[in-house]
Amino acid sequence: MTLSSLVNPNILSQPVYEPGKPIEDVARELGLDPVGIIKLASNENPLGASPLGVTAAIKALGQAEVYPDGGCFVLRQKLAARHGLRPEQFVVGNGSNEILELLGHVFLRPGDEVVMGAPAFIVYKLVTLLFGARAVEVPLDNHRHDLAALARAITPRTKLVFLPSPNNPTGTANTAEEVAAFVRSLPEHVVFVFDEAYAEYLDNPPDLRPLLAEGRKVIGLRTFSKIYGLASLRVGYGYASAELAGLLNRVRQPFNVNAIGQAAAVAALDDAEFVARARAVNLAGRVQLEAGFTALGLGWVPSEANFLLVEVGDGARSFAELQKRGVIVRPMRAYGMPTWLRVTIGTEAQNSRLLTGLAEIARGQASV
Ligand SMILES: *Cc1c(COP(=O)(O)O)cnc(C)c1O
Repeated sequence: MTLSSLVNPNILSQPVYEPGKPIEDVARELGLDPVGIIKLASNENPLGASPLGVTAAIKALGQAEVYPDGGCFVLRQKLAARHGLRPEQFVVGNGSNEILELLGHVFLRPGDEVVMGAPAFIVYKLVTLLFGARAVEVPLDNHRHDLAALARAITPRTKLVFLPSPNNPTGTANTAEEVAAFVRSLPEHVVFVFDEAYAEYLDNPPDLRPLLAEGRKVIGLRTFSKIYGLASLRVGYGYASAELAGLLNRVRQPFNVNAIGQAAAVAALDDAEFVARARAVNLAGRVQLEAGFTALGLGWVPSEANFLLVEVGDGARSFAELQKRGVIVRPMRAYGMPTWLRVTIGTEAQNSRLLTGLAEIARGQASV
């Protein structure tokens, strides 16, 4: 008997997530010095991590022999105060990606349907397929989520609807009014998942709390991986009704979030100076890249996040050529956009290197 005949068939057909390429891998494969390589592939914070977060993390490391607080008591208290909600309304995850999976555990059975945009964050589809449910993918309209089309895709079998704001990989967001009207139009049997991984980059992020107060079945997801710069420590959270948060807390592992990450997240929430600086550098970098792409005659999608989609023609080739120049970006073939690259907005110097590389590739020049 083969091993594969024993396996849950969902697993054998499960697509595999392709992460941004680590600097060390590129250095090894191409014989480059890792110090000279920049990674603009995973929407990480080019300013590094929140300094307050790092100081707290180092202190917490001194107690590494102790199990973490499985209930994330201090962090949930602090999040509750920050959002004007109750601590019981929060679930903390090993990154917000874990909460996407917890939603699958709580809600999805074979035959269920999950409605999502395409292209949108690929983990929505991976979680859906993992639980044997059907991914109903609704094409974006001019790179934006088409909420009317999402509404039309809902059937009696729909359990979850995902809406990222802004979306990854397009960087586009729907307005607060559009989102509120969409949520109020959803039937009773559908849970709305609002993925706000990049909300801190928006000028006017939609506010889910009035919808929660109305008793709508909604959950907002946030992360410390992006604007707080703590991607390595894996902390994200969901806020919802106490009932929904309780269900998600029931299915998670007892110690799913480590103590170093919890301490860093608590401290980073007070790092207003760092968040403001990250927003300012991102805005300046976005303007710099948009102007640079336009000067090179490349199309791009207006973004409200910390990354941009740029149309380069042959995405795989540009990805490889940039890599030879020590610039790692994200090819978009896995998202069905083979002529595009997704690039994280970096510091001014990093953005200049990216633009120089793209200019050389456009001129057909070899890397030196
Ligand atoms: C980066 C990202 C996340 C957050 O991932 P973590 O698991 O919290 O690191 C969630 N959703 C989207 C759309 C993202 O791009």
